[in-house]
Amino acid sequence: MKRKWIYSLLFILFLFTTIAFTIDVYSEPISRENAKITYVKNEEITNGIEMEHQTKEAKGFTSSTNIAKINIPAIDDRIFSWVQQKEDEFFNEIEAKKTQLTRHVQASFNVDTTVEHVNEHWLTIELDVQSFVDDSFTKDALIAQTETKTFTIDLEKEQIVSLNDIFPELANDAQKDKFSHFITHIKDQQIQSQLQPLKNRSLEQIDWILINNGIEILVNDETTNKISQRIIIDFEIVHQQLAKRYKQTFLPHIVKKEREKAEKLKEKEKKQREQKRKLVALTFDDGPDELVTPKILNILDKYKVQATFFMLSKSVRAYPKTAKLVAKNRHEIANHSHAHRNLNSLKTARLNEEINDSKQIITEITGKAPKLFRPPYGEYNSNVMKFASKSKQKVILWSVDSLDWKYKSKRQIYDTVIRDTKPGSIILMHDIHESTAHALPSIIEKLQKDGYEFVTVSELIKTIDHAPNGAYYGK
Ligand code: ZN
Repeated sequence: MKRKWIYSLLFILFLFTTIAFTIDVYSEPISRENAKITYVKNEEITNGIEMEHQTKEAKGFTSSTNIAKINIPAIDDRIFSWVQQKEDEFFNEIEAKKTQLTRHVQASFNVDTTVEHVNEHWLTIELDVQSFVDDSFTKDALIAQTETKTFTIDLEKEQIVSLNDIFPELANDAQKDKFSHFITHIKDQQIQSQLQPLKNRSLEQIDWILINNGIEILVNDETTNKISQRIIIDFEIVHQQLAKRYKQTFLPHIVKKEREKAEKLKEKEKKQREQKRKLVALTFDDGPDELVTPKILNILDKYKVQATFFMLSKSVRAYPKTAKLVAKNRHEIANHSHAHRNLNSLKTARLNEEINDSKQIITEITGKAPKLFRPPYGEYNSNVMKFASKSKQKVILWSVDSLDWKYKSKRQIYDTVIRDTKPGSIILMHDIHESTAHALPSIIEKLQKDGYEFVTVSELIKTIDHAPNGAYYGK
């Protein structure tokens, strides 16, 4: 009878143990349902950036997260979503290991954030996630994970920065998504080999942050997933691939050097172009002439050629309308003295009349002040040079004499000019002979065909040197 009672007791004990064990296995030891959530908000850590601290407590589960809020909604959402995703993944893993869980397990999910201002335009955020499940009875760690995620934020553009933003050349490349390809752009053997463990990743899978002289790439240990190395890629070694915005901010000295180099090259090319230009100046002396000058003006107008007219102020006075017409056609008005005397034979008082007074008369009538003076017959002495210089007139001679006053033949004038003209020439003609007007169209056509550009004497002498005494002859 007593023995039977003991059996019954043992049976009841067995039943209880079984029920207790069954409950222990099949009830969920870890849950985030009905969590008690505590927020500590708005702890400003640096200008405009807040750290939001949150704790959660539920059955077998605690969570502690410190997440930066930078108050750019799209970016805050993205960071928050990433943390949420990590918590979901953690619970998926717990679900997968359900059968190994006892009532002694404790799950924990923690996030810490480091915020660094690179400068006023950029900041970096580094999130460190630690999640684990421990059995407090057996001391076993069922799950133990760490993960790091980085964000570099362009505060001005309110965007998360990608490696493609910093190295736009990579974005144009078919291989752009592969980090192995990125590595090939780094001209530093040591860094290249340090980055080899990451070579099979896509650019998206690389954790990196912007620092004040480049980027820092985070390398994690393959087994523990912990950050084991931080490799700095100095912008100087990848400056050729760097986007303009980053280059200007982080490498201003290189930008300055490159700009100076480009300017020098531009200057050199401009000079070479100028030297290649075949410039030539047509000059007409002894006018204006009531009959011939208008004919010459028509021809010049037809070929869109600018010339220089060395006028006698005596003739300007005689034919003011013609003189004005020359100025109106935007040719250069120059001074050829008052009455065409040989200046070497004149006294100082007369020189003043021929050089200064003549300039005044031409200025008054044409409205243009001559800056150039050509002495009649090309005869001048140091006194002439002095007067010209005092009245701010450059002394201009010629390098090609058409001899139009002598030949009076279209063919001979043409042959002489074409034979002697070269780049930089100042060609002497006269707008008082009909034959000059006859020869002019074929001379212009031939020189234009040969690549010559017609400019005024003032333009031409910018590109050629004067003689030791200051007079210009042309080439
Ligand atoms: Zn003359």
